[in-house]
Amino acid sequence: ALTTVVASGSVHGNPVTILKRNELSIEEKLHQAMETGGFSLNYQPVINVTDNSIEACEALMRCRIGDEMLPPDRFIPVAEKTGLIIELGDWTLLTAAHMAEQLLANGHPTKVAVNVSRAQLTAPKFQQTLQALLTISPLPPSLLELELTESLFMDTSIAVRRNLDAAVEAGLSLAIDDFGTGYSCLAYLKDIPANKLKLDRTFVKNLPEDKKSLAIVRAITRLAQDLGMTVVAEGVETPEQLDTLLGTGVNALQGYLFTRPLPEQQLESWLTDFKG
Ligand code: C2E
Ligand code: CA
Ligand code: CA
Ligand code: CA
Repeated sequence: ALTTVVASGSVHGNPVTILKRNELSIEEKLHQAMETGGFSLNYQPVINVTDNSIEACEALMRCRIGDEMLPPDRFIPVAEKTGLIIELGDWTLLTAAHMAEQLLANGHPTKVAVNVSRAQLTAPKFQQTLQALLTISPLPPSLLELELTESLFMDTSIAVRRNLDAAVEAGLSLAIDDFGTGYSCLAYLKDIPANKLKLDRTFVKNLPEDKKSLAIVRAITRLAQDLGMTVVAEGVETPEQLDTLLGTGVNALQGYLFTRPLPEQQLESWLTDFKG
């Protein structure tokens, strides 16, 4: 049944999106969640190990339908295929910016990072969304960060270029997400407006035993820092991984060892305790 292919209706200019049957039921659920306020954001702090400050808090989308939680790895791809990610992405940007505003007002001037999909960046309206957001929000744009996968930085389409330029011009910072998973060449690194590189969890997972992962982490960290970028390691789960990573020169760490992504209401008290 999983391979049954059907054509779904058109959303946001995707005339015929081909969805598998199980994806169709997810699309159904996404609509349901939109109608019932089932979307929320959790925030995962990233710790800067050079001064023990909070480097950023990453906003991660959650989707609830009744008692069921849909994992992002299942619903994000469907939201991308159907174009729903554009509306969801606008909501995420607004909500995350609002969170950053609130944190700032309560004594936590921390960046909030938002994941942005290709479909959002190929939509010309992304610029306007951003501008509208920065007009209505008193938030300093430097407290908003966009996380994009490598391929988006190599994208030569005019819409993507313009949207990225507009974000940088507006004062937002850009991070390369999931670095090292995209089989890309390194040449593009010297020409892109990102000031942060997030090393994918695959390089952290098998530390400290895997010496090859360690060599890669060291080399990439050195390279990125020489290019003026900050390096974050994702998916830190154990004290041994922490110890090993501290010896590589990475600037910041993110992972369950510090905290799982937190619901909005728990983030502030976590940040306050961490400062304590
Ligand atoms: P990502 O951007 O790479 O986000 C990091 C993922 O790693 C999150 O999964 C986070 O919960 C998880 N994680 C953090 N620390 C650890 C750890 O120590 N161990 C392990 N095993 N995992 C850890 P999550 O929240 O399930 O999100 C999965 C992916 O869904 C994200 O990967 C991102 O690509 C996408 N996503 C989530 N929220 C959004 C969103 O608002 N917009 C877009 N476009 N994509 C999103
Ligand atoms: Ca991310
Ligand atoms: Ca990532
Ligand atoms: Ca990812």
